[in-house]
Amino acid sequence: MLGASLKGKSVIVTGASKGIGKGIARVFVEHGAKVLVVGRDLASAEATAKEFVAQGGTASAFSADVSQLADMEKMAKAAAERHGGIDVLCANAGIFPQVTIENMSPEVWDEVQDVNLKGTFLSVKACIPYLKKSSAGRIVITSSITGPITGFPGWTHYGATKAGQLGFMRTACMELAKFGITVNAVLPGNILSDGLKAMGEEYMKGMAAAVPLGKLGEVEDIGYAALFLASREAGYITGQTIIVDGGQILPESPDALAQM
Ligand code: NAP
Repeated sequence: MLGASLKGKSVIVTGASKGIGKGIARVFVEHGAKVLVVGRDLASAEATAKEFVAQGGTASAFSADVSQLADMEKMAKAAAERHGGIDVLCANAGIFPQVTIENMSPEVWDEVQDVNLKGTFLSVKACIPYLKKSSAGRIVITSSITGPITGFPGWTHYGATKAGQLGFMRTACMELAKFGITVNAVLPGNILSDGLKAMGEEYMKGMAAAVPLGKLGEVEDIGYAALFLASREAGYITGQTIIVDGGQILPESPDALAQM
């Protein structure tokens, strides 16, 4: 059964207290993995971990900021001590404040780079010593269609980080291949996370209208793609991307959807 190889594996999911990260964490927990739920706010991370444990899963919470190397090192150590090593890192934490270039301060630009791009680098860096000891180390990065493929006003800083993650991935997968570690990315379209809901009803309605499947994605849709990339069955896939967007990037114009 797909995903059965994750049973008993130690998995870190950053940004797992809510949104897509929570969906990823839930899918891994449901497949028998031991999951470290990471976010800055300890109370939210604990509430999420508790929810999984109440459902019979194995999970615990850890408070850390992905933009801080010391935090990432403590996170990796905690996962290794609590769950007997690290087999999978899902580098998912990310932020997307919307602001045009003209109104964007250098500080906001830096913050988004620090969390989304540097945070990916730091979380991977901190986990490498442990992933090397795993028989099948896996890194799954949450990128986006915004940046690598599409654009949206107010998200130049965000798009740059999401495209940057893929540049990082393509060399990381080469450096880590000799240790049997794979590095891949999931590119979500518009997914009903807490962060996306905060964009408001109008935004969500407009986006849903642009999706051939006619609806926004669920957080678990990203979880299943991450589970596949972390599975034994995906062991020969590295440096690749899976787009999970309901077909959103495909229509040539809104008219193309109207003709369906
Ligand atoms: P979300 O609902 O806002 O959740 C973000 C999560 O990340 C929270 O758990 C948050 O917890 C954590 N976080 C934020 N900054 C952090 C930091 N510096 N260190 C550690 N944890 C941090 O966001 P989301 O929509 O699920 O997005 C998750 C990922 O998916 C992001 O990388 C985003 O770019 C990507 N994505 C989302 C969509 C979408 O449609 N939702 C589409 C494409 C890509 P704390 O605040 O407690 O730290």
